[in-house]
Order: sequence, then C-alpha cells, then structure tokens
Amino acid sequence: MNTQTVTVGKKVSFGGFNIPVISGPCSVETRDQILTAADCAKEAGATILRGGAFKPRTRPESFQGLGLAGVDLLCEARDATGLPIVTELMDVRLLDEFLNRKVDLIQVGSRNMQNFDLLKELGKTQTPILLKRGLAATLDEWLAAADYIASGGNEQIILCERGIRSFEYSYRNTLDISAIPALKARTHFPVIVDPSHAAGKAALIPSLAKAAIAAGADGLIIEMHPNPAQSWSDAEQALSAQDLSSLIHDLKKVALAVGRDIS
Ligand code: PEP
Ligand code: MN
Repeated sequence: MNTQTVTVGKKVSFGGFNIPVISGPCSVETRDQILTAADCAKEAGATILRGGAFKPRTRPESFQGLGLAGVDLLCEARDATGLPIVTELMDVRLLDEFLNRKVDLIQVGSRNMQNFDLLKELGKTQTPILLKRGLAATLDEWLAAADYIASGGNEQIILCERGIRSFEYSYRNTLDISAIPALKARTHFPVIVDPSHAAGKAALIPSLAKAAIAAGADGLIIEMHPNPAQSWSDAEQALSAQDLSSLIHDLKKVALAVGRDIS
C-alpha cells in the first residue's frame, strides 16, 4: 500500500524518501539536561526531540516525570534549537494542556495503545500522533487502535514498533522486524521503529536500527542522554551523544543502500 506522509512541525516528513531520526532522553530531568540533550540530538543529525514528562513506570516509587513543567522545558528546548518535540500523553484530561503548548507530535505509549477514550479524543485533534505498539498487541489490534484515532478525523498517525513481549529475556523485548513489511502491505500510515525500548541495552541498538531501515522503516526514535550513566530512567539503553552521532552516520549508508536517505 502507498505510504502517506505525516509532517511534524513545519518540515519533518515521515513516509517519504527521507528517514527522520527522533532522539532525546527517556525522561526530561532538568533544564540543563534537556537543553544539552536537544543540542546533542541536533548536532548528531536528529530532527525531532523526544523526552518523557509523564512517565508510565512499572513501580510507583520510580521517577514519574516532571509533568507539565517537563513539557514546558521541552518547549524551551524547541525554541532554542528549532527541533519539533514529541512527548507522551497518558491522561486524556491533560490533552488541552498539550494542545495549548503546541506539542508537535503526541505520543501514545505502549501501555495506552488500547486506552480507547484517549484515542477517541486524539481523533478529534489535528495534531500528529505517534501510536506505539502495545506490549503484546497483534497487528490487528494495533491497526484497530489507529482506526479509533482516524475515524475521529485525525489521519496524522505514525505507527511505532517498539518490541513485543516474548519468552526471551536476554533483552528487554523482541523487536518484530516482520511487522514493518507486514504493516506496509496493510496500511498507509508510516511505520517507525524504537530500537531502544526493544533492546533495553545500548550495545544492541545500532544493529536493530540498521535492520529497521533495511526492512523499510520510515523513521527511528532512539533514546540518548548527555550522561547515560546518570539517566533517571532507562539508563542501560541510553546512547551517548557521540554514540548517536556515529550511529546516524552509519545509518545513512544503510538508507542509501535501500534507496532512501537521512538528512
Ligand atoms: C517511551 O517511549 O518513553 C516509552 C515509555 O516507551 P513504550 O511506551 O514503548 O514503553
Ligand atoms: Mn524509556
């Protein structure tokens, strides 16, 4: 099926010749951290900044994110660098706050893929939505979730494969590379890959990212932290700025080999 393009911010398009890379930390932690991360992401060649302000953590005592103050810091990083921002919305009651701040791409995280009330409200907006695959969601369930958004009138949807639960525990999740060509045959929404939450380990990320592009992914979202060991969440999977920069350099070659580019 032909892939439609979804444009985030003024000029970052998913689903065309170019393969955008989204990067930034798992969580927004401090002003200095996110402003530095934004500079590093831009310098490395990423074109959208990520950062979680509302964090879906397994345990209640874990850092839950800075909340709207974190979104405000992302907006400041956007102003400083010109990079559009993506951040996760967990609670439908905060949608207006996200819209008021003009979050460029609203993320629906894996744990909320089937939060149908959230999906319905997002369907009434015109903001692009990054819909991550549920922890154990089939393609049918994932596409049905996308339909909840699309049937409300918002077709600006990007699907994100981020690994699924399997019996293998050597890595955090199992990246379902097959999902990329399988979705391409079934939907016109762009498909991107998150190798960070799939791998759970920084050392595995370059291989998964290359495989994703070779298999036809329309973009990548990769966690990067200015000081990975000090990350407040997902430290083990955070790339350094230097790692990200050399990875994007290598990914360009893979993109060119499959008739695309990263620019
Ligand atoms: C994230 O991207 O910050 C995140 C929590 O990912 P996922 O929903 O895929 O676990
Ligand atoms: Mn994370």
